[in-house]
Amino acid sequence: MRKILIVGGGYAGFYTAKKLEKHLRRGEAEVTMVDPLPYMTYQPFLPEVAAGSVEPRHAVVPHRRHLRHTKVVTAKVTKVDHATKTAELTPPVGDPWTIEYDTIVMTAGAVSRTFPIPGVADQAIGLKTIEEAASIRDRMTENFVKASTMPPARSATGC
Ligand SMILES: Cc1cc2nc3c(=O)[nH]c(=O)nc-3n(C[C@H](O)[C@H](O)[C@H](O)COP(=O)(O)OP(=O)(O)OC[C@H]3O[C@@H](n4cnc5c(N)ncnc54)[C@H](O)[C@@H]3O)c2cc1C
Repeated sequence: MRKILIVGGGYAGFYTAKKLEKHLRRGEAEVTMVDPLPYMTYQPFLPEVAAGSVEPRHAVVPHRRHLRHTKVVTAKVTKVDHATKTAELTPPVGDPWTIEYDTIVMTAGAVSRTFPIPGVADQAIGLKTIEEAASIRDRMTENFVKASTMPPARSATGC
């Protein structure tokens, strides 16, 4: 059986697996999808999560609940060797292991850029993951709470 390896279970990887499940005939290929996260994030919903109008759990899709015939592996792809058609998978716990493939689909997405602006890398929060969106929401709420208990500011004339 042909082995198809999908690197990343984000928008592109998840829908590749879902479409393959629909179109492949039984026994035609074995599909494996690898991602360190067990869910796909609908990134266009992240601003709503940060604003508090959408719950974080409503902006993610659990891989295993929606992919019935795909082998889902929770790990990071840490090496790909096209010459031998093998990839190294590193799980969160345990030693890395190697998997063979006939076809590889690279959909590992992108990372937030911080640009050489002083302070951005240390202070800013990205908006690429559900955790970052929830953390922006929490920081804003916390700041509103702090502001609501601060004494009123005095004007320059002291009134
Ligand atoms: C705030 C925001 C709003 C957006 N709004 C819109 C919009 O309105 N309309 C629109 O069309 N697009 C929008 N986009 C863009 C859209 O979400 C992205 O284009 C899309 O998510 C890209 O899909 P992807 O599969 O390439 O990457 P991602 O969805 O980011 O998925 C990449 C996956 O790869 C995994 N991965 C990373 N490294 C590895 C590794 N080494 N091994 C295994 N897995 C790995 C990650 O964990 C992740 O699950 C928005 C994006 C953001 C951030």
